[in-house]
Amino acid sequence: MLEKMDKFDAEEFIEEFEILTKDVERVQRETLQKILEENGCTEYLQKWGLNGRTDPESFKACIPLVSHKDLEPYIQRIADGDSSAAILTGKPITTISLSSGTTQGKPKFVPFNDELLDSTMQIFKTSFAFRNREFPIGNGKALQFIYSSKQFKTKGGLAAGTATTNVYRSSHFKNTMKAMQSPCCSPDEVIFGPDFHQSLYCHLLCGLIYWDQIQVVSSTFAHSIVHAFRTFEQIWEELCTDIRDGVLSSRVTVPSIRAAMSKLLEPNPELADMIYEKCVGLSYWYGLISELFPNVKYIYGIMTGSMEPYSRKLRHYAGEVPLVCADYGSSEGWIGANVNPKLPPEFATFAVLPNIGYFEFIPLREYVDGQEQGKIDSTFLSMELKPVGLSEVSVGKEYEIIVTNFAGLYRYRLGDVVKVVGFHNSTPELQFVCRRGLLLSINIDKNTERDLQLAVEAAGKLLWEEKLEVVDFTSSVDVSTEPGHYVVFWEVSGEVKEEILKECCNCLDRSFVDAGYVGSRKVNAIGALELRLVRKGTFHKVLDHYVGLGSAVSQFKTPRCVGPNNSTVLQILCNNVVKSYFSTAFG
Ligand code: AMP
Repeated sequence: MLEKMDKFDAEEFIEEFEILTKDVERVQRETLQKILEENGCTEYLQKWGLNGRTDPESFKACIPLVSHKDLEPYIQRIADGDSSAAILTGKPITTISLSSGTTQGKPKFVPFNDELLDSTMQIFKTSFAFRNREFPIGNGKALQFIYSSKQFKTKGGLAAGTATTNVYRSSHFKNTMKAMQSPCCSPDEVIFGPDFHQSLYCHLLCGLIYWDQIQVVSSTFAHSIVHAFRTFEQIWEELCTDIRDGVLSSRVTVPSIRAAMSKLLEPNPELADMIYEKCVGLSYWYGLISELFPNVKYIYGIMTGSMEPYSRKLRHYAGEVPLVCADYGSSEGWIGANVNPKLPPEFATFAVLPNIGYFEFIPLREYVDGQEQGKIDSTFLSMELKPVGLSEVSVGKEYEIIVTNFAGLYRYRLGDVVKVVGFHNSTPELQFVCRRGLLLSINIDKNTERDLQLAVEAAGKLLWEEKLEVVDFTSSVDVSTEPGHYVVFWEVSGEVKEEILKECCNCLDRSFVDAGYVGSRKVNAIGALELRLVRKGTFHKVLDHYVGLGSAVSQFKTPRCVGPNNSTVLQILCNNVVKSYFSTAFG
């Protein structure tokens, strides 16, 4: 498929996708067979007595469901350079990806190989083909807020970096972007620069230099796009000065970035004036992206799941430019493509590509005669709820997704909950629901990432009338006093009146509607929810902390709950608290 990319024929790609999704049961069987043929000789598969069998029935009977923790010793041996045997894959693994790890507090190692790269390109091209049908772009450039993570060698000499970094470094990626008529407007030195603040500054500058050629503004996750334009609000005058004088700001100190930027910069007072005029003419920066880049056709990035809270701000910056949600995947591998790009991000769906892995789904609720049998706590999943295959899922139901892929993961619990909302031919279209597992729980209460998100959204509305917003948020459980209580940390865009914050705090408390929480609150088995307001820039410090650990800004997700295993982040937050309120919602 990659060879075809010299010239991208979108219709041909759509046609291929249509064929691929006609009979997913067959494609899944063939894909599993291929995976097991390539890797049947591995220590891992041999251990479970698969004995060369490649059919789904034997596979499921022999191989257990696992999580990252179970595979960690194997992955660690690969990273340490153990070449005594084929451990997880027939072909040796030469690269390790670091997952963003923002949920666990530290990045995880996962294997990366050429097959994952191929599937990344397949998914990029598939969704691009559908996108281009709805929002055609001509020849131009993309303002992509992409950054590489620190790359290092593992003990065994394998290259390690975030999955996005591994992708950006590949020539396949560059060729694909070129073929899609939207190469990144920034030079490689900016993308791979060692300091993301400097890279961000230069991404913005490159975007402005090529302002009339920019067709797409994108990043992996919406957070990075919002972060970029929030930064623009602070530094736009400095950017104008650079453009006016043709001299790069002294804030950029990395010699390779300075050298690359000097080739692009030349004095352009007319452009500087134009940008200046546009910026001063905007009200609360509404429509900033469409003003700066009048030829932009859409804004592209993952806007679902934990990115949903940023899409409001993104819409504000976008003005009339459509927001298009990017595909669904993870460092472990891709899952589905957005083939309905016109759907607003909050309704985005992902059609599973049946040839990039073998997928199974654990039903998260029990149904009897179509009737839901109550909420089953996904962390204590009953194994009687047997996983079903890709062709066996039902519309309207929620599942935990299990992945088997070409990079050494077998029946791997990814940790995500998805909902089936329809089918494209015979492949399911999924909606991302949330990360599996509970975020906030003190006793019988059960609240997920999504529950917190909904509560923050409800309470955040009280700020809108004041033209204020929640910049970012997280939570923790405080059990240092009896009874324990929920703590929600908020960074807000400006000064908020005391009485509004009190109301927000009450609203947060009331918005956790889980019966366990409400019941516990009523009898004071859980104490009053506490809203802690943190100083402006606190979440920036949290981001910096993760980048220091090896995360890439491109893959950053604010952790929505900070537990004791994440004490540095908790400390950053607690050190920056400026005010705190306790709810009076339950008297
Ligand atoms: P990473 O740890 O950086 O590999 O991130 C992978 C995780 O990001 C997935 O397991 C999901 O929880 C989340 N994710 C990826 N794509 C999407 C999407 N389109 N919508 C919502 N969440 C996503």
